[in-house]
Amino acid sequence: MQDCIFCKIVKGEVPCDKVHEDEDILVFRDINPQAPVHLLIIPKKHYNSIVDMTETDAALAGHMVNTAARLAVASGVAGKGFRLVTNSGSEGGQTVPHMHFHVLGGRQLSGELG
Ligand code: 5GP
Ligand code: ZN
Repeated sequence: MQDCIFCKIVKGEVPCDKVHEDEDILVFRDINPQAPVHLLIIPKKHYNSIVDMTETDAALAGHMVNTAARLAVASGVAGKGFRLVTNSGSEGGQTVPHMHFHVLGGRQLSGELG
């Protein structure tokens, strides 16, 4: 996806504050954090949203969820609690059409997204 900002981050064409990288995923800090800890977990492969992931991608999806939990622990927010979210489509509040999870923590969250 040529014009996708997250694909550009994966390719190193746009900088990011990287927290974790492996063969399949990249984790970096959100540029406009909504909480003291706000990480974005993205697959290196472009999917428009979680709707585009299928059973074939179950291992990748599971790896992203497990990495989210491990990084929540490493960031020190797992004890008090955190939120793992993915937005899909405009009514879901998705603004970047490259599938991603948000990890939000470090303050009291409430409401739709806290
Ligand atoms: P969405 O609204 O699609 O669920 O989440 C997109 C998130 O990506 C937003 O929280 C927004 O702040 C973040 N974001 C958008 N562009 C960039 C960028 O270039 N770098 C980083 N680090 N985050 C971005
Ligand atoms: Zn992309």
